[in-house]
Amino acid sequence: MIRFALICARGHDFDAWFGSGDSYDEQVEARAVVCPYCGSAEVKKAPMAPAVRKGRSALAEALAPREGNKTYALLKNLRAHLKANAEHVGPAFPEEARKMHYGETEARSIYGEASLEEAKALREEGIPAVPLPPLPEEHN
Ligand SMILES: [Zn+2]
Repeated sequence: MIRFALICARGHDFDAWFGSGDSYDEQVEARAVVCPYCGSAEVKKAPMAPAVRKGRSALAEALAPREGNKTYALLKNLRAHLKANAEHVGPAFPEEARKMHYGETEARSIYGEASLEEAKALREEGIPAVPLPPLPEEHN
């Protein structure tokens, strides 16, 4: 089996599997391959393009820690340390960090989720917050 990235006359791209390159030619000629979006049989192989993942920038992808690299090991240790010694407050992190900073709650070690924007705002208020990129294993 061989997979081809195809594109229809209206510009929809989709993938299709073929027994071989020859069978691709035959099926396209017989107009047996149709676009799943519009039903057009005017399809051809899509030009090769670098893979782009939706929802994540290429930069984030490049900076993401991967199993086996040093950053990954460091982050993993740090995360394990946080889990053992700090309280997970989740998305409430920016709020909790502020409360602690302004003495509304007792100071303790916390960790959680904050957007880049929020982390920046905290820093501008003089609240130390270290952004941690998510580890791949957390998406399991
Ligand atoms: Zn189409």
